Amino acid sequence: MSYIITDECISCGICVDECPVEAISEGEDKFEIDPELCTECGSCADVCPVEAPIPADD
Ligand code: SF4
Ligand code: SF4
Repeated sequence: MSYIITDECISCGICVDECPVEAISEGEDKFEIDPELCTECGSCADVCPVEAPIPADD
């Protein structure tokens, strides 16, 4: 399981440094989470101004 970043993402980049496992990177249209690395800690969702990261199994 992993968090995913929805299309709400405005590519501000704030979440990147908050991820303890460096799972977040800039994608083509928005930022993306590597599901192989994500531990579902929720830190990215806590700092995101538009609540774009959500649990994939939600
Ligand atoms: S939930 Fe945690 S581990 Fe997963 S991408 Fe967000 S900050 Fe990184
Ligand atoms: S903090 Fe939210 S809006 Fe900013 S890059 Fe991350 S997911 Fe996108």
